[in-house]
Amino acid sequence: MVVNRTPLIAGNWKMNLDHLQAVAFVQKLHWSLKDAKHDDGSVEVAVFPPFTDLRTVQTLIDADKIPFALGAQDLSAHDSGAYTGEISGSFLSKLDCTFVIIGHSERRQYHAETDEIVAAKVQAAIRHGISPVICVGETSDDLEKFGASAVPVGQLQIALEGVPADAEIVVAYEPVWAIGSGQAATPEQAQDVCAKLREVIADKLGPEAAERTRVLYGGSVKSSNIASFMREPDVDGALVGGASLVVDEFAAIIRYQK
Ligand code: PGA
Repeated sequence: MVVNRTPLIAGNWKMNLDHLQAVAFVQKLHWSLKDAKHDDGSVEVAVFPPFTDLRTVQTLIDADKIPFALGAQDLSAHDSGAYTGEISGSFLSKLDCTFVIIGHSERRQYHAETDEIVAAKVQAAIRHGISPVICVGETSDDLEKFGASAVPVGQLQIALEGVPADAEIVVAYEPVWAIGSGQAATPEQAQDVCAKLREVIADKLGPEAAERTRVLYGGSVKSSNIASFMREPDVDGALVGGASLVVDEFAAIIRYQK
């Protein structure tokens, strides 16, 4: 089987950059990538601004023909109705969101998102034609008790329940202990878990889906370590937090060389 997965470099801004700062940031990033390979389609770049920035960033990307995909950081499991403060997938698809992050460890930890809630949100994203970026990963306690892969594998099995085989999904392996800590997993650790997650995709959605689906690594990714992750056969890109907020650093990550 020919492996043909376009690498995805995704910037999760978290609760940073208001809509005015977002415009300046996206313009600067675009300019610093002029002539870089993101223009030739060999790397897909996606930014995940806060909800309140989405319309502004969408307008800018559209007007200036900037080749970045747009994503949201969360969505509601519901489509509409009396859910104060929630954002529907239908609103996101109308803003041309290609992706939505689901089940980030900060949502699981601070907003009590269970595997079942994550699974319902994955279904909501698919209903609205948005690719879920399904985040899974173990805490340092899990790592000690169960090793690296058991928890993320279990989380992904639940998240993929009832997902159609032809759904466009992305999986992000993000060890919780590596997020924002400056202590990334080793490329070998990332490869090992990403390969096991691909097996889960094969098991749940079939071999074709496993071959096509991008599995990202996230957790303290920087310009100095991105290439080592990208050399691994089952790592198809990165979900980048802190380093995605610094134009030169994020641009350097996007320009990684294998
Ligand atoms: P980090 O965050 O790159 O700052 O470690 C990654 C993430 O939370 O997605």
